[in-house]
Amino acid sequence: MSTPVVTCDAVRRTYRRGRGAPTVVALDEVSLAIDAGELVGITGASGSGKSTLLHLLAGLDTPDSGRVTIAGHDVGARSERARARIRLDHVGIVFQRFHLLPALSARANVALPLVEQGVPKAERRERATALLDRVGLGDRTDHRPGELSGGEQQRVAIARALATEPELLIADEPTGELDSETGARVIDLLGELASDRAVVVASHDDAVVAAADRVLELRDGRRTDG
Ligand code: ADP
Ligand code: MG
Repeated sequence: MSTPVVTCDAVRRTYRRGRGAPTVVALDEVSLAIDAGELVGITGASGSGKSTLLHLLAGLDTPDSGRVTIAGHDVGARSERARARIRLDHVGIVFQRFHLLPALSARANVALPLVEQGVPKAERRERATALLDRVGLGDRTDHRPGELSGGEQQRVAIARALATEPELLIADEPTGELDSETGARVIDLLGELASDRAVVVASHDDAVVAAADRVLELRDGRRTDG
């Protein structure tokens, strides 16, 4: 039996906006386990806790109580620095607004995580080129983000998230800025990528729900299926 790529066990996360402000329970008693080969959709109304859950699954944040493991590492028990290393080695993250560096070419954007990993320059270039090819942008490697469409920018962001060959890919509303046809192609790509890793996508896009192997719905920070 294989170990899940990411797990949550009775996770709770609260926020407080300031002293004296009421505490918001963003996630309450959420448990899940996701295996390689799965495309899992996270749905729920705005404010239901989707982004909070994804931040925990990505190791960007830690729970108030409960346990999150990424590739077997208990992230709540780690320092910020140790979590950054876990993210670099195991997690790729894609955001709604792409978050590409505007002054860099598509290839240089994709190669950035490899700089952090200390991969030599020639290998970075080769791997970034291959990744852009993989996402259908082999002819756009030298373009800057401003010279690319929204759908193309999101593909660059996906290629960048894949650069370190993570076993977990997390995408928060990845089609939120795209028209439905462009979004559908991004979802197809995420589906393909789930064949050999775990992919978790938060979205209220029906196309994500249709493409997912499994859908978890949140309501007020709890799974609707318990
Ligand atoms: P979703 O992604 O489903 O829209 P979020 O996870 O962003 O939901 O938010 C869940 C709840 O937590 C909401 O009530 C939201 O207002 C609150 N929340 C999220 N982030 C913060 C924050 N940084 N500070 C205070 N409250 C927050
Ligand atoms: Mg959100």
